[in-house]
Formats: sequence, structure tokens, C-alpha cells
Amino acid sequence: MSKNYVIGFPRIGEQRELKRVLEEFWAKKCSFDDVEKIAKELKKRHWEYQKDAKMDFISSNDFSLYDNMLDTSIMLGAIPKRFRHLKDEELYFAMARGNASSVAMEMTKWFNTNYHYIVPELSPNDEYRLNASKIIDEYNEAKALGIKTKINIIGPITYLGLSKRVDRGDVYEFWGKIVPLYEDLLKVISTLDDEIVVQIDEPIFAKGLDTKVLSLIKPTYDRLCKVSSHIKITVVTYFEHSNEATKILVHTPIWALGLDFVHGSINLDSLERIASSGKKLICGVVNGRNIWVNDIKKNVEILEDIAKSVQKENIIISSSCSFLHSPYTLKYEQKLDPQIKEWLSFALEKLGEISLISKIFFDREDNLGVAQKEALQKNIQANQSRKNSSLIHNKTVQTRVHNLAKFQREGASTKRLSIQRELLGYGDLATTTIGSFPQTPQLRKARSDFNAALISKEEYDNVIKKYINECIAIQEECGLDILVHGEPERNDMVEYFGEQLEGFAFTQNGWVQSYGSRCVKPPLIYGDVSRPKPMTLEWIIYAQSKTKKIVKGMLTGPVTILNWSFVRDDIPKSEVSKQIALGICDEIENLQNAGIKIIQVDEAAFKEGYPLRKDKIKEYEEWAVRDFKIAVSSAKETTQIHTHMCYSEFNDIIDTIENMDADVISIETARSGNELLKIFKKAGYTKEVGPGVYDIHSPRIPGVEEIVKQIELLLEVLPKEQLWINPDCGLKTRKWEEVIPALKNMVEAARIAKDRV
Ligand code: GLN
Ligand code: ZN
Repeated sequence: MSKNYVIGFPRIGEQRELKRVLEEFWAKKCSFDDVEKIAKELKKRHWEYQKDAKMDFISSNDFSLYDNMLDTSIMLGAIPKRFRHLKDEELYFAMARGNASSVAMEMTKWFNTNYHYIVPELSPNDEYRLNASKIIDEYNEAKALGIKTKINIIGPITYLGLSKRVDRGDVYEFWGKIVPLYEDLLKVISTLDDEIVVQIDEPIFAKGLDTKVLSLIKPTYDRLCKVSSHIKITVVTYFEHSNEATKILVHTPIWALGLDFVHGSINLDSLERIASSGKKLICGVVNGRNIWVNDIKKNVEILEDIAKSVQKENIIISSSCSFLHSPYTLKYEQKLDPQIKEWLSFALEKLGEISLISKIFFDREDNLGVAQKEALQKNIQANQSRKNSSLIHNKTVQTRVHNLAKFQREGASTKRLSIQRELLGYGDLATTTIGSFPQTPQLRKARSDFNAALISKEEYDNVIKKYINECIAIQEECGLDILVHGEPERNDMVEYFGEQLEGFAFTQNGWVQSYGSRCVKPPLIYGDVSRPKPMTLEWIIYAQSKTKKIVKGMLTGPVTILNWSFVRDDIPKSEVSKQIALGICDEIENLQNAGIKIIQVDEAAFKEGYPLRKDKIKEYEEWAVRDFKIAVSSAKETTQIHTHMCYSEFNDIIDTIENMDADVISIETARSGNELLKIFKKAGYTKEVGPGVYDIHSPRIPGVEEIVKQIELLLEVLPKEQLWINPDCGLKTRKWEEVIPALKNMVEAARIAKDRV
């Protein structure tokens, strides 16, 4: 009986082999053959790992050289016009990354993960044509190795739902054009073998769709199931429940339904329906997007519960989603505290969990082999020690959170702002930056030398001090009003704080793909969070001592620290975020007492934490706003709080942003003229705003007149008293040669604009 199922597997390689070879290829240091060779090796290795772990359903076409949505666009021939003259890998990577003559396709977050996909660009004039070669090749590649795979494809409704139309029309109008291509694809697949399982991913069903889109489900799956009796179609959803779609899917001829019982336990409400349909149920019980050992006993209990409705022979045990969102293996972790390491499970280890769960569930515990008995014992013990460990539980933190009385700062914002303007002495259209300045090769080298103990702390600190001296001098020379220290001591805006907070751990190799070849290594929040000592004070004070102008303190906010980490799952996220908030709150108190007058609390990832389902948004907003406010609650009326957010679309969340009660917010509107600023006016936003006046993501140096124009556009929307002038994000990825002239031009432009109004 086949019972162990994996939705999908990470592809970047356990040592990021794919990343390395891709980047060499892009730098023209190796050939495309080299890329293909590595890709082939990785696929083989990944299939074999899964086979050795006794997985019965192993995927092909979950591999990708860049992104699966992009692969789907290629499969459908959905190629934007500007790329159509290109072929093969040149076409593929140009769509992903742009080339000398054409800008790349847009990229955006895959649901509520930190993975980013390439957004399909559809136009009414497109003619689509099937190209199934990648799918066929990968299937045959595995088959030649003696592995019969299921074929993963992204479903038509999700594909369309995540696309954008160049004419801004309704993407679902293209349903009639796209579904026949999926039918053709299945026809081709049906010739590959006598019996094939095709997994069709429809994660968009987990968002809760409107009736119009829901009405497409039945015709789509009736048609796709009709194509061939050789094909068993499995529809999988993840990240939330998809009960609305399940209601419909049970009335189509699909073979199986895959549901996430970790993030969508409400899926349990659909069990009776699924049972009476007689379909297979792929039960996603092993969390595919975190790093903690599963509680095997609890997983088995859930399955026993499911089995009260659904017949046991129709149950298949699975990951909750693709393991793409989890790091690869614990094998390379040499530095983690052994106790913490025991609590962790990455993709490879999770395979073992799936097989152990299914052994217990289907064969009973008494029949476990010696090694399995040991594994179960280890799992029980790990879960127990996580419950009781003194590493995790910090009474002082818990008491403080429990007794928390102050949830916000004093004073109404209008009063605060008028006090601050007077006291801080900045005028209309004040100029500043978002915080970071170029991370130079010298800085990186000093940091890695220091980490490798090649230079002393004193030597390292001297490099940082020298950088700050220069950074302050440059900002004075540019004529900026409010200065920053430049963040030279920070490798990353979350990691830097995580390293200094208790309750955080760091892996050596816990990489997760973010987009293309880019991976991130999120910190692990394993226990109660506290701040043993000031984290930024020394550097900010040092910078302030070098100038008469005001230096803005620079912190990362609680919600962003949380959203960019792997968070413990034994207490609610909102509780963890509150603990982080208290650490930031203490830091602000220290900075303020040391005479720092403006403090910026970055919430770059505030929007990233939004839940998929509308009915959960309110709850998220409530605690996310609460914790930002707790973080800044120590600020006196006279201390000005800035925040920065790395996006520009505020239409749906403007009231929430207003509720955060920051005195000044800087945002990323540089690429959209004044269009996106209008919501601030419409909402009657009363605090101050710094809409980025130039795009820092490009090496191009903006001219004075161009920035003046941009400022004038902003002035059409908001009055000069309410506007700050700044770039649209931090400058760490730029070079000094770009930054200095750009900032000089920006200051000059602000002066000219001020004279004109
Ligand atoms: N202060 C940070 C910087 O300037 C903010 C970066 C961000 O929001 N992504 O780099
Ligand atoms: Zn930003």
C-alpha cells in the first residue's frame, strides 16, 4: 500500500550547489552545460533521498532552475512580447532577471511565505502554445533511475489567479484559453506510462475565493479528469483550509485531495464529505515550513481522528506543503547547542517523520523495528524537553509580559509633532536617509576576519568607528538635515538584533530559497526573548558625538524581527512578538536617556505577516500594531519616532498604519510617482510622511531636476509641512560613488522645491 507522500522537495541543494552554478553561469564563468550537469545530479540525489526514506510519492517537476511559476509560463508559452525573440535558457533567465534591453518580469511573494515567484504577464493578444518538454524530460530522467514519480504542476486556477494582465483586465477571462493547454499537457503525460499520478497545486483555494472563481473549479476538474483514464489527478492546497473548494472538488472525478492539517485544521470540517466521495485524502500533518520536530504522537492522534470519518485505506500521510520552505538538513549544523538541535527537523529529517508516523498509524506501535522505536522515543523526549527546558522558559520575561501595563506612548500625535518640530528644529521638506550606507568590501572583510578570529574586537571596532566618522562627514558634506550612523556593524537588519537577544539561535546551513538563486538563513526563535544589554547604544552615541546635527537611532521593529525568523510554535506568535517588543522598548529608553532625539523603528516586513484569509486579518493587525506601540511606548513626547516600510501599496492598510502612531513614516513610492501617496491624503493621515524620492534598487544616479519633479508631484498630494525627503530604502547595496552624488542631488532638489512653494 502506498502511503507516504511528499508535496515537493527543496531544489537549491544541501550546500546551495544550484545557487553557486547559476551565479557562475550568469557571471559567464561556466557554461549552461555545467548548470544542467549540476541540476541533474541534484535531482538524482533528491529523488534517492526520498526513496531511501521510503516515500511512495516522490515528485518530478518540483525542480526548477529559477521558479515553478516561471516554468509554468514557459510551459504555456505565456511569454511577454519583449522576450519573444529569445530562446531556451537565454529566454528563461531574461524573463526572470531582465537583460540589457528588457526589464525583468515582476516578482512577488508566494502566498504568506518568503518565497517569491515570477508573476505571469498576460495579454489579450497572446496565443498560447504547449511546451511540455521540461515535464516529460524530468519524468523520464527519474524513470531511468528506477524511480516512478508523480508529476507536479501548478493548477490553472492558481496560475491565472497569480497572474496580471497587461491591460489590467480580469485574468480569469483567459480561463478558456488556458484550460485546453492543460488538457493537452495531460494527454502528453498519459502517453508516458500506464498509470501516472499528477499533482495539481491549487494553493489559491486556501485564500477563500469569490463565487465567480469558485464556479470555475468544477468545469476545470471535470475536463481535466476526462482526458485520460491513465491519469490519477490529485489536487493539493496548503497554508490554510480550503473548505469552500473541497465542497466542489468532491463532486469532480479527481482521485485524491491533499489538505494542510497543520495550518488549516478547519479542513477537518470537510471529512464527512471527503469520506462519502470515496476519494483518497492526502493528510498534510508534517509541517513543511518550519524547523521544529513534529510531535509524532500528536500527529498520529490527528490521523486517528481523521480515520473516524475517512476509511483508513484512503488515507495517505504527507508534508503540509512543499519542503521548499524548510531548510535542507541538520547534517551540517556543528555549532548549535545540542539541546536546541534535538528540537529541530529540516526537510530530510521530516521525511523520516512522515515514514515513522505512517508506520505507527498503519502498522501499530507494537510492530515498530528497533530503530523506529528509538526514533519515536527520541521524538517523545525532544517534545518533552521542549516543554520543560530552562533554555526556553524565562520566568522574568513571562512575568513582565504578564504584568505589562503600558501599551502606548504618551500624548496625541498632533501635539507631539508640534513639540518635536520646535525642539528638533527641522523645517519643511527635511532631508534624511533610511539608515544603511554602502556595505563595502572592506567592511565585509573586517567582519569575516573578526568572526574567524583573525582580527581582535578592538581592531574590528576601529574599522566600524572609522566608517562612522566618514559616513557622518559625508552626510554633512551632502547637507542632509537628519543624519544616521550608516549601520556598518550590521550584517543584516534582523540577524544583528537576533544575535544580541536571548532566545535566538543561528544555523550554519539553514538556507531557504527566497527567489532564484537567492537564499535566506532566518534566525530561530526557540525560547522566551529578552535583551540582556543595549544592542545599538554604543554606536549611535559614538556617531552622535561626531556631529552637531541630530543622529537618528536605528532599530528593527518586533513584527519584522518575527516575520523574518523561524518562530517557536509552542506559544502564539503574538506572544513572541510582544516579548521582542519589550526588548526594543528598553533599547529606545536607553537611547533616549543618552540624548538621542529621533529613533527609527523599521517595520520592513509588517505587511508580509498578513494572513491569507480575510477573517484572520483583524487579529493579526491587532497584535502587530499593539506590539509596535509597545516597542515605542518608552519614547517621550519629545522623542520623535520614525518607521520605515519597504513597500508602497497602503490602500488596504492605511488605517492600520495610522494606528501604529509613528510620528514619521518613510515608504517606497519612488517608482509610482504620487499615485500611491494619494491614499494618505484620502485617509486624512495627519502624521509626517517620507515617500522615497528616488529608487535605490538601481545604480542610476538621479538628476536634480528629476528629483525636483518628483517632489513637486508629492506636493500636489501633501503639504510641505507633512513631507520628508529621503531615498526609498536603505543604501547598503549601493556604492559610495553612486550614493554621494545622488544624495547631493536630493538635498539640492529639496532646497529648490522649497524655494518654489
Ligand atoms: N534601516 C534599514 C536600512 O536602511 C532598513 C532596510 C529595510 O527596510 N529593508 O537598510
Ligand atoms: Zn526599505
